[in-house]
Amino acid sequence: MFLGHFGIGFGAKAAAPKVSLGTLFLAAQFIDLLWPTLLLLGFERVNIRTDGKQYPPLDFVYYPYSHSLLAVIIWAVLFAAAYYAIRRSRAGAVVLGLAVISHWLLDLIVHYPDLPLYPPVLPNIGASPLLGFAVWSSPVIEMALELSIFALGVWLYLRTTRAVNATGKWALWSLVVFLLAIHIGNTFGPPPPNFTALAWVGQAQWLLVAWGYWVDKHRVLATY
Ligand SMILES: [Zn+2]
Repeated sequence: MFLGHFGIGFGAKAAAPKVSLGTLFLAAQFIDLLWPTLLLLGFERVNIRTDGKQYPPLDFVYYPYSHSLLAVIIWAVLFAAAYYAIRRSRAGAVVLGLAVISHWLLDLIVHYPDLPLYPPVLPNIGASPLLGFAVWSSPVIEMALELSIFALGVWLYLRTTRAVNATGKWALWSLVVFLLAIHIGNTFGPPPPNFTALAWVGQAQWLLVAWGYWVDKHRVLATY
């Protein structure tokens, strides 16, 4: 799941109009933004498949600190608390916390059973069961799902905001096209050559967060 998470970021603007699109992206994609760092530091692991037998060609063998349900709830609470501490907006904090959790729920729909409920840090409890409804095994349905969430999110963002200048228009539309292009590249392109390359491409997503802030700076709420 890639586009769907950004769709949630766009759409959440309707629920929290005062929160910047960059912050909404940061929340909706938070655990996928942590993941590359955890990979590079060796705390989490992924296997890249080159046999062409699975879409996507990634086995998420171990990512309990970014992608277990318990960890995601903790990240969501921390994210919301940090936002509240800085901006003093309860509504904004709640929407951001829910956006962090939405990532896990969307991943749950599409991932093969690889999502743990909790990290292996709790003593006396066995390894977590692994969850995932595997919609990825039907790539056309998966693509339709992602595109639908993305289109709905962009539509909500367009309804909630309007451009104050030309940048507000083109920065947004170029972002939409760029996200679609990345998604198509990920879907039809070759698997990443190694996990370091994969992790650095993942790190590049921080630029998308910055792009969100840039777009939002040049737009205002449609009601003004
Ligand atoms: Zn994810």
